[in-house]
Amino acid sequence: MADESGTPQDDCLFCKIVAKQIPATILRETDTTLAFRDINPQAPTHVLVIPKVHHPDAASLAAAEPGVAADVLREAGEIAVEEKLDSYRVIFNTGSGAGQTVFHAHAHILGGRGLQWPPG
Ligand code: IMP
Repeated sequence: MADESGTPQDDCLFCKIVAKQIPATILRETDTTLAFRDINPQAPTHVLVIPKVHHPDAASLAAAEPGVAADVLREAGEIAVEEKLDSYRVIFNTGSGAGQTVFHAHAHILGGRGLQWPPG
């Protein structure tokens, strides 16, 4: 797959959500990030925090734009506060073998129920 990091992708679902071409239940928006509810929640709280800029995964984002990667982590914490989560998990699935299906960097924030360790 061509590396089009940093450029909005016509075929990227999350770029379309950033552009408001596809609706989402948006909880928070900053200059650099968007947080919205996962369409297929795996816990009572399941929120995705994404950078507005397109990078295929979290490591690519952190390498190219560390400040934005930090913004994503900070927003994950803000979501946990707003959702009143005492305990929660932040997950970056990276690669199809780890369950990544959308190749635009995103953090899953999961909480509101007991979470097993190790994860499946
Ligand atoms: P991944 O599997 O780690 O790449 O996570 C992608 C997530 O995006 C999955 O948990 C999906 O349920 C979620 N998702 C897919 N389409 C939408 C949508 O249109 N709105 C919100 N979440 C979505």
